[in-house]
Amino acid sequence: MAPLLEASDVHVSYPVGGMFSGRRAVKAVNGVSLQIERGSVLGIVGESGCGKSTLSRLLIGLEQPTSGSVWVDGAPIAQMTRLARARRIQPVFQDPYSSLNPRRSIEATIRQPLDVHGIGTSRERIAAVREMMDLVGLAQRHANSYPSQLSGGQRQRVAIARALVIRPELLVCDEPTSALDVSVQSQILNLLQDLRAEFNLTYVLISHDLAIVEHIATRVAVMYTGKIVEEGETSAVFSNPLHPYSRALLSAVLTPEPGLGIPETRLRGSFPNPMDLPPGCTFHPRCPESMPICMENAPCLQNIDGKSVSCHLYAEQRSSVESPRKQLG
Ligand code: SF4
Repeated sequence: MAPLLEASDVHVSYPVGGMFSGRRAVKAVNGVSLQIERGSVLGIVGESGCGKSTLSRLLIGLEQPTSGSVWVDGAPIAQMTRLARARRIQPVFQDPYSSLNPRRSIEATIRQPLDVHGIGTSRERIAAVREMMDLVGLAQRHANSYPSQLSGGQRQRVAIARALVIRPELLVCDEPTSALDVSVQSQILNLLQDLRAEFNLTYVLISHDLAIVEHIATRVAVMYTGKIVEEGETSAVFSNPLHPYSRALLSAVLTPEPGLGIPETRLRGSFPNPMDLPPGCTFHPRCPESMPICMENAPCLQNIDGKSVSCHLYAEQRSSVESPRKQLG
């Protein structure tokens, strides 16, 4: 059976510059391949600017890759209509306030996907909205309220209800709790966990909060400068991270403020300029284990102990990992 979602060697680059400075390209996503199996939760972590949000837009179909392809259940996403994509994949964004129409009531907001997809009669749609409100823990008295009359946590419940009312298979959640007070973050995470079991959902979870990813994700992908540098089962990556960047990330202290980005890694140097990435392994200027080869040759993903790792430290140990579609081609 094909994975529910698959990215095959996807690249996204944006042209920048002008007439006098010359045209250059920023590589936001740089050769990512991954497979998301039904029922799994893939956590994607990395510093701000590493390409994880661009990757999430690719997986939803909101952005087209410069090269490579994304497949939904074995079918190219590029050939699906917007409505067909939306029936199967729904996003949940970081800021529920900006993702909700302030002039639309809560009931109309949650009902909108049913209207757009022409699902059910008017009476059935209202019943479905009321059921979703119950399922996400929204009191029925809020049906005629507007987003400005709700708290941040309640607005995120509305956004989740709207995403789920047409029963998609996959939710792509981009920092779903980082705009919320710490006190309601765990409520929303527990809700996502409960709904996943209720609807047999698959999640892609993008989060700077490693504790959330460790708690919820079944697999985790660590991104750096548009590439996945390590991917594997969450317990394996968290208990024994192999890539030096994963190790730095996972040993870092979490920031007390939500939404501030990835924790302080104590790595030397700063995240590289995406317009001027270092040659070889892009992590080499910050890597405590850098070797001469790292400055010249970019490492490939390899299978090490059941994980995929991109690092010359493991050059002796394994076989190179390629996208199955690439191997077939
Ligand atoms: Fe560090 Fe070299 Fe591995 Fe890159 S390839 S992470 S520089 S050891």
